[in-house]
Amino acid sequence: MTALLEVQDLRVSYGKIEAVKGISFTVNQGEVTTLIGTNGAGKTTTLRTLSGLLKPTAGTITFDGRPLAAVPAHKIVALGLAHSPEGRHIFPRMTIEENLLLGAFLRNDADGITKDVERAYGLFPILGERRKQAAGTLSGGEQQMLAMGRALMSRPKLLMLDEPSMGLSPLMMQKIMATIIELKADGTTILLVEQNAQAALSLSDRGYVMETGSIVLQGTGADLLHDESVRKAYLGED
Ligand code: ATP
Repeated sequence: MTALLEVQDLRVSYGKIEAVKGISFTVNQGEVTTLIGTNGAGKTTTLRTLSGLLKPTAGTITFDGRPLAAVPAHKIVALGLAHSPEGRHIFPRMTIEENLLLGAFLRNDADGITKDVERAYGLFPILGERRKQAAGTLSGGEQQMLAMGRALMSRPKLLMLDEPSMGLSPLMMQKIMATIIELKADGTTILLVEQNAQAALSLSDRGYVMETGSIVLQGTGADLLHDESVRKAYLGED
């Protein structure tokens, strides 16, 4: 297994409050890795730090063999790390197609971009059907699809998805999870943050459980799915 991302002893604070307290984890090339944990565990903070939006107070991040600590956010995208944020952050007045094209802002290969827009429409047909409509007219689940499609437009080596199933109907959630499996089959490496532990661990090669800023448990997706403490805390079993 080749590590695409290696995080070591990472610490991140908001002022005096330390939200991430020295975590270490690895994302292997071609795998789906999941961070699970309750609200406030520090998952979003971790992803925002990997994207360069927050500065760590300590620790190292190595992406594709290179240290990320001093690299600004816009250059991190260029290195191949894309982030589909929690809460989606699409541009509601722009069309669906314009939103997708924003994800390709660093590229200048027009033919490749056109191909990838079509690929996004292949993954999410509803986006293709409504490509000229304002993105704000999409449902929550469809906006989530657009956020994922936009992150894919940079042809990332690593796709980070923050709570892609949040607020979605069970059917929509299944669609998003099926797309993650499809992307993995295409060779995309994925770092997933999810509250829906059952769905996320079922499709993950590896998982890490975060609690109040620390990683308290790790293992393969299957190991964690069968772990008694995970089942009690995250899968609602007694
Ligand atoms: P959630 O699923 O609720 O988003 P999370 O695991 O992603 O949870 P974070 O959002 O990373 O958790 O939050 C970790 C801790 O940092 C929490 O205690 C949160 O209140 C705190 N925190 C997050 N953002 C800020 C901020 N901008 N300023 C101060 N504290 C923050």
